[in-house]
Parts: sequence; structure tokens; C-alpha cells
Amino acid sequence: MYNKKTAMVGTPCQILAATKINTYDDITGGSPIDLKIGLFCMENFSYTYLKMFLEEKNIDLKDIKEFRIENNMFKVFLNNGEEVNYRLAEIHSFQRKNCDICTDYTADVADISVGSVGSPKGSSTLIIRTEKGKKIVEDAIKEGYITTKSITEKGEELLERIANKKIKGNLENITLREESAHPVLYKREVNEEEFVNLSEECQFDNLKADVIKEGACVLCGACEFVCPINIVHIEERKPFKKGECEENCHACYFACPRTFVSDEILPNSLDKKPLGEYLSIYVANSNVEGQDGGVVTSLLLYLLDKKIVDDVFVVGEDENNPWKPIPKLTNSVEEVREAGGTKYSTVPIGFKALKSE
Ligand SMILES: Cc1cc2nc3c(=O)[nH]c(=O)nc-3n(C[C@H](O)[C@H](O)[C@H](O)COP(=O)(O)OP(=O)(O)OC[C@H]3O[C@@H](n4cnc5c(N)ncnc54)[C@H](O)[C@@H]3O)c2cc1C
Ligand code: SF4
Ligand code: SF4
Ligand code: SF4
Repeated sequence: MYNKKTAMVGTPCQILAATKINTYDDITGGSPIDLKIGLFCMENFSYTYLKMFLEEKNIDLKDIKEFRIENNMFKVFLNNGEEVNYRLAEIHSFQRKNCDICTDYTADVADISVGSVGSPKGSSTLIIRTEKGKKIVEDAIKEGYITTKSITEKGEELLERIANKKIKGNLENITLREESAHPVLYKREVNEEEFVNLSEECQFDNLKADVIKEGACVLCGACEFVCPINIVHIEERKPFKKGECEENCHACYFACPRTFVSDEILPNSLDKKPLGEYLSIYVANSNVEGQDGGVVTSLLLYLLDKKIVDDVFVVGEDENNPWKPIPKLTNSVEEVREAGGTKYSTVPIGFKALKSE
């Protein structure tokens, strides 16, 4: 259906959504996403509440140069050189609820995963998971886009420890939610046949009851993207439907990363492998400015320069609302460079942008 190739960058939940969309392409219509670069992710925040919190502290978002989460602190670096630190516990109240039940720290189903934990300041930790990811990294090294060296034992131990902490803590939250009759469907053990049978019974109203109302929606935008008659819309907070579903359509339920997920896509056994399945892990650098080693941006530039993909799907910044993340589908090197850096709030990734092409 798509005769172009797109590389995407996203949080683990967004990467899982893309994986489901492509795996069930006969039902969802598929996507042009050909390469998935996942980011490590402990939690994410609401843009509205983050903005309000900072305004209460007399900080204007437009005066902020960079955000960073380090050593249990939320660090705000201002353009005037000042640094303001808050304890993570202080901003926990506007962490998104859905993040409490997420057990994927390092984007287990990506081709390549990138984060900072495990590497020295200014470098990125790079996990290669698939043969496709391996070839791209090896070629990007040969072409001088990135450099890599082995991760230290200490770095890897730290990374495993933090991933384990997320998994264990959130598995406890999942047990509590399930005990109080709030389902966490994506963690239920289902095989492929069960997944298909269950999902074929469901439409948007089930998605609303099972995911959205239960505080499990990650705002990935997959439901909006796959809807063949464009009746799903996402505004600031949650997806909603305007109109009647097509008979026999189950696309949104199949695509959503928080409905059932079959063991073949995201095995529950990964909970015992804090970093998921992988081929190798490196400390990586580039000469591009980014949140950490600029490795994500540099890999994307390599993919575009060498025409390995037609465009890339990144998360940029809304020009009228500083630090507000917006999804961008682009083949402009400038836009990819500008998108570098982490925006610590959720963005409906806007898979829809791919559809309107
Ligand atoms: C919400 C969030 C939480 C994170 N938590 C951790 C963590 O706990 N531990 C850790 O080691 N690393 C975490 N990271 C990843 C880390 O912040 C860096 O993105 C990563 O190390 C890559 O750095 P880089 O310099 O190679 O990337 P860059 O070259 O700076 O590129 C960053 C890319 O991230 C994308 N991006 C920016 N904001 C978002 C967003 N909100 N959603 C999706 N994509 C986005 C942009 O498209 C850009 O292309 C988190 C990232 C996000 C977005
Ligand atoms: S659900 Fe939250 S913690 Fe999990 S990957 Fe998505 S943004 Fe990160
Ligand atoms: S028609 Fe209904 S069931 Fe199908 S994708 Fe759209 S909202 Fe979901
Ligand atoms: S309900 Fe829609 S936006 Fe929310 S997680 Fe599911 S697919 Fe993503």
C-alpha cells in the first residue's frame, strides 16, 4: 500500500503501536514505517500541567534552554545560564497515569534503542536489536556519522538496574489495578489466536471502555491513524469518536498498544530481561548537538543523506507554544536537526500525518 519508507523516533509505547499497525496491516492498513528508533523512557508528563507548574515557579517556558532528568531530579536549564532543580517526587502528580503501568524502559520492539543511562554525560547508550538496525549502525559508523565504543560493565549494570526498577514497580501497579477491576489488557497473557479472536469482537466503544476510560491511553494516535473513515479524533487529552463505526471494522482495537498484545509481539517473558532481546550495546557519540550524544539526530541525517528512507517521523516543537511537542514528518535536514532534544511531554504522535501524504 505504501511505496515509500519512513524512519520513526518514539517512546516505547509509540514503537509498540507502530509494531502492531504493521503486524496487522491487513486489518489496520499498515504504515510506511520501515525503521523504528526507540527512546528509553521512565515516564512522561502532561504539557498543560508542566506549563502550569513552571508558571507557578515564575518560569516562562520560552526562557528554557533544556530539560533533563538526572539523579531523581527534574532539572531546568534557563537561557540565562541559571539551573533550577526540582525533586522528581514534586512533579510526580502530573506524570501521565498510563506511565504507571508501563513495563518497557528501553523500547524492546524497536530496531535500535537510544537513551542516556549507562553512558557518560554527553554520550548516548545505543542498543541494537535487529539485523536491520545493526546494518544501519555499522554503515553510519563507516560513513563517519557516529562513533561507538563498548559500554562499561558499570554502565550496563546501572541500565539494567533502572530498567528493572521500572518493570518491578509498574508490575506492582498493574496487579493493584487488576485487583481493583481496572483491566490492564496489554499485560494479559494471550497468544496470537486468542489476540485475534478477542480483538475481532471489538470496536471503538470497546477501546473507550477498556483503555481510554481506564487511564491506560498513551495518546499515541494509532487509533486516529488507522480509522478507515476518519471518525477518531484526538484533542489535547483523549481520543474520541464522531460518527458511526463501519460494520466489521476493528482496526483501532488491533492497533492500540494498550489493548491485548499477543505474546509473539511483546512476550511477557521480557519482564525477566530488563533490556529486552538485543544484539549489542554501545556508548555512542556524534558531532551533532542533541539531548545526549545527538546520536538519534545523526542516525536520521545518515538515513536521509543516503536516501535509505524517504522521510523521517520526529517530534519537534510547536513554534507558538515553547516546548510543546508536535509530530513532524519531514525530509528536511534542518527540521531534523531542530527536532533534536527531549520534550518531556506527551504528543499524539500523529501517525495520521503519514496517511495524508
Ligand atoms: C518522554 C521521554 C522520557 C525519557 N526518559 C529517559 C530515561 O528515563 N532514561 C534515558 O536514558 N533516556 C530517556 N529518554 C531519552 C533521552 O532523553 C534522549 O532522547 C536519548 O538519550 C537520545 O538522545 P540523543 O542526543 O541521541 O537524541 P537527539 O539527537 O537529541 O534526538 C532526540 C529525538 O527525540 C525525539 N523526541 C523528543 N521529544 C520526544 C517526545 N516527547 N516523544 C517522542 N520523541 C521525542 C525527537 O524527535 C528527536 O529526534 C527519554 C525521552 C523522552 C522523550
Ligand atoms: S507509557 Fe509512558 S513510560 Fe511507557 S513508554 Fe509511553 S511515555 Fe514512556
Ligand atoms: S470505524 Fe470504528 S472500529 Fe473502525 S477504526 Fe474507526 S473507530 Fe475504530
Ligand atoms: S486509545 Fe488510541 S491514542 Fe490511546 S493508546 Fe490506544 S491507540 Fe493510542
